[in-house]
Amino acid sequence: MFTSDALLITDDKEELFQNVLTQVAEQFSRAFKINELKTEVTNRLAMLEKRVELEGMKVVEIEKCRNDIKKLREEMASRNNSNFLEDNKKLTPCRDVMSYPKYHLSRETVEALRLPTFDAWQWEPNEMLTCLEHMYHDLGLVKDFNINPITLKRWLLCIHDNYRINPFHNFRHCFCVTQMMYSMICLCSLQEKFTQVDVLILMTAAVCHDLDHPGYNNTYQVNARTELAVRYNDISPLENHHCAVAFQIFSQPDCNIFSHFDPEAFKQIRQGTITLILATDMARHGEILDSFKQKVDNFHYTDEEHVTCLKMVLIKCCDISNEVRPMEVAEPWVDCLLEEYFMQSDREKTEGLPVAPFMDREKVTKPTAQIGFIKFVLIPMFETVMKLFPQIEEAMVQPLRESRDRYEELKQIDDAMNEVQKKKSENLTMGSKKK
Ligand SMILES: [Zn+2]
Repeated sequence: MFTSDALLITDDKEELFQNVLTQVAEQFSRAFKINELKTEVTNRLAMLEKRVELEGMKVVEIEKCRNDIKKLREEMASRNNSNFLEDNKKLTPCRDVMSYPKYHLSRETVEALRLPTFDAWQWEPNEMLTCLEHMYHDLGLVKDFNINPITLKRWLLCIHDNYRINPFHNFRHCFCVTQMMYSMICLCSLQEKFTQVDVLILMTAAVCHDLDHPGYNNTYQVNARTELAVRYNDISPLENHHCAVAFQIFSQPDCNIFSHFDPEAFKQIRQGTITLILATDMARHGEILDSFKQKVDNFHYTDEEHVTCLKMVLIKCCDISNEVRPMEVAEPWVDCLLEEYFMQSDREKTEGLPVAPFMDREKVTKPTAQIGFIKFVLIPMFETVMKLFPQIEEAMVQPLRESRDRYEELKQIDDAMNEVQKKKSENLTMGSKKK
């Protein structure tokens, strides 16, 4: 009995132990299963999440493609061959330096290049590139900043390729503005007043100041809610874009004339160039000129703020300096500008956007377009600069006054012609009434 009892007890105990063991095992196994399940669920969830993400991305991608196609269609339809999507392609120069013919500039050309009377209409793009290159050499910028002459050529080529073929805002305008800057540097002996860094900033900002201009002004960009206006929150969208394109070009080592500058020097050139390009927004004209007027009677070249303000006014002067040039050089630019304005106002009319009267082909004439601009924008600005550089009176301010007088005469003729026309038609209606 004892044994059997003992056995029984042992059996019972064993059974109990077995049971406990099974339960523990089951619990373990369940725990493992739960873990397995957990892992599986987690994996499945991750997979699902990934799929959702992928599917989601597909939707985004499809939507993006759809938008891109829509934009392309719109761009193609609007005969304006501008397309910001293709910008990056243009950033690399299309031609290489090898195919950029070496023009020899005659002594006469080199001399003429220093004067505001220079006639840019006589030159082809390659010749203008050679002239720009000459200016960088002549001002000592290549030597003083140890600029690689081949990089300078490639950079200028790339600049040329990134100006669009607009009636006005094209590479020739870029050239004229830079050439006027060069002639002001010479005429006002600016190299005696400014550091070479300032001269480098003035020239480079002039070269870059309208890069990739689409031919439609800031007002259009904002009203039409273009990609540029959205990107820059309506704040000088074009000028911000010109600047961004300029530094996209510098980000390519092949075209970076500043590649060997130390970071501090590059930062200074970058900041200076940005400030000057952004100053070319005519919406800021009053603000900038007022700030300059406050400094000009007590001007200090040692005051950085004064110098920056002067540089801003100088690039503004050059940007709108066509009327400083001889009449035969200046006048075709008015036609170019009006052509670009009319292109914009026509588009604004078809798109149901507001049209500025000075751009409306029904309302504007060459004399009316020029008189107000010369009298109230150009002459006051150049006369303020004249306080600092009296030598510009003869070379720049006098031609402006003559141009104003000429356009006022033209307007009188226009008005007289209109009067005659009006009387003629009045007589006609009177005559028809009599009958
Ligand atoms: Zn410009």
